[in-house]
Amino acid sequence: MRMYDIILKKRNGNALTKEEIDFFVSEYTAGNIPDYQASALLMAIFLKKMDTRETVDLTHALMRSGDMIDLSAIEGVKVDKHSTGGVGDTTTLIVAPMVASCGVPVAKMSGRGLGHTGGTLDKLEAIDGFKISLSADEFIDIVNKNKVAVVGQTANIAPADKKLYAMRDVTATVDDMSLIAASVMSKKLAAGASAIVLDVKCGSGAFAKSTDDAKLLSKIMVDIGTNMDRKVIAVITDMSQPLGHAIGNALEVKEAIDVLKCNGAEDITELCLVLSSYMVALGKNIDIKEAREMVEENWKNGSAYKVFKNFVVAQGGDIAQIDDISKLPSAKYIYEIKSPQEGYISNMQSDEIGNCAMLLGAGRETKDDIIDMGAGIVLNKKLGDMLKKDEIIAVFHTDKFKSIDELSEVQNRFLNAITISQSKPQIPKLIQCIITEDGEI
Ligand code: URA
Ligand code: CA
Repeated sequence: MRMYDIILKKRNGNALTKEEIDFFVSEYTAGNIPDYQASALLMAIFLKKMDTRETVDLTHALMRSGDMIDLSAIEGVKVDKHSTGGVGDTTTLIVAPMVASCGVPVAKMSGRGLGHTGGTLDKLEAIDGFKISLSADEFIDIVNKNKVAVVGQTANIAPADKKLYAMRDVTATVDDMSLIAASVMSKKLAAGASAIVLDVKCGSGAFAKSTDDAKLLSKIMVDIGTNMDRKVIAVITDMSQPLGHAIGNALEVKEAIDVLKCNGAEDITELCLVLSSYMVALGKNIDIKEAREMVEENWKNGSAYKVFKNFVVAQGGDIAQIDDISKLPSAKYIYEIKSPQEGYISNMQSDEIGNCAMLLGAGRETKDDIIDMGAGIVLNKKLGDMLKKDEIIAVFHTDKFKSIDELSEVQNRFLNAITISQSKPQIPKLIQCIITEDGEI
């Protein structure tokens, strides 16, 4: 088999065979195919597309390039959740205990943040002592005992995806829906879940800019799951503004606690209830209405919050910081950002707001940057809210900027990411639609 022929075949718009896809993935990962040929094939795939069968074959090849995690020692249907990347997206910290409180095991591997998106592991590490690396035995024991554990990815999961993703990133081939679907699903399937709920973000800050793209991406991922005998449900959700009020690690831990104590912002609360309900429905094989009732009951009666506290203790976190959130890390400097004019917030560029939080110290620009756990942004106002001139839109928390003058560049960038207009805008629906193997609901 020759790489040249594979590139030519795809360039001419023909479907690749399983053998050709396997050849490309294994030889590229082994270093036997040069980057220029890999990038030519990626661009041909981007332009000529892959069908579902090819996408499933690519997912298999990526998945098999590394370790496959065996979660069979955990009792029950293991349900995972994956978000395609948001700003201020604290859902894992809330959903994991919500679902576990209903008796469905959550054995989750999470990642770190880079650029404008935050990562669950960084948020958890805002809690003193919280251990994100556990041995496989510890991980399984904790899940069997508490129904929930969240750890960093220690095993060698889908290394071919890592290499291919890095190549896509520099060749303008990230946002092909088949390539994204294979990349996401290969990692989820290798991580051992039997059922998966996907939170597919849609909007300016997301990979899928339009609802149509999000539906296509969702459908491909659901099809991949079905093809591999896994139950997959995709919830398409709006990302045209950050979720909740808080962006930043300790700030988001506080927000998660607020939601679990029934005091959280409406959007993130509803999203967590919806995602948890679908996870419980899959985990218990019950209908969504029954699952929602169960989730709401365990949330309102405090069980979900109790599971969260047990989860923190089991992974070595300092429970005193949860009981008294003023003990969580906080920033040295706090600045109020005021509205330059009167009007309604008609647009919020989520990714830019995420970038501002990163510049304040809440995230990493490069892999080796150090995060200030207390840094970030708290939004006082959201899409559609009315503002008076000089009313506080947001509060910045930072260790890096010692005066408001030093901060002016970030402040301007933040204000530029927010559009204020005179008429009340239409707000996109948070939950846009649900894609299951039976179609759209
Ligand atoms: N997230 C992934 O893991 N892969 C992609 O291709 C895009 C988003
Ligand atoms: Ca948030």
